[in-house]
Amino acid sequence: MKTVNGVCKYCGQMRILQVSEDKAYTNEDLDRIAASECDCDVATLLRKRNMAFGNLEGMLDERFPDDATDDKEKVIKELLRTGGKLMGETTIDSLSFASGSKKYSLSLSQKLTFKLKIANTETEVQEA
Ligand SMILES: [Zn+2]
Repeated sequence: MKTVNGVCKYCGQMRILQVSEDKAYTNEDLDRIAASECDCDVATLLRKRNMAFGNLEGMLDERFPDDATDDKEKVIKELLRTGGKLMGETTIDSLSFASGSKKYSLSLSQKLTFKLKIANTETEVQEA
């Protein structure tokens, strides 16, 4: 191990890092490691958002398993995954769209948990 310096790109704080001697690190790598270990507000929030996104991916894989998901649902899954990633990186906290008779709503709470709501909007009407 060797001791090097990295700068958190969010707060500018310099951190002392222990890294492997066998691997070559660019300054960019070191700054990324510094940010991943930094406890400033922005770095902490981004770590939490990344974790929330990991949970969302798990949830989507459970709801739309590869072996039981048709092409249309695969597009919906990808849309939710991409949307969730963008929500994690921005201040967008909900999105919704419709496909056929289903309405999909994905939201990210203040506590950084994702919620997916799928509503069936099909209405049955009978007359006699
Ligand atoms: Zn920082």
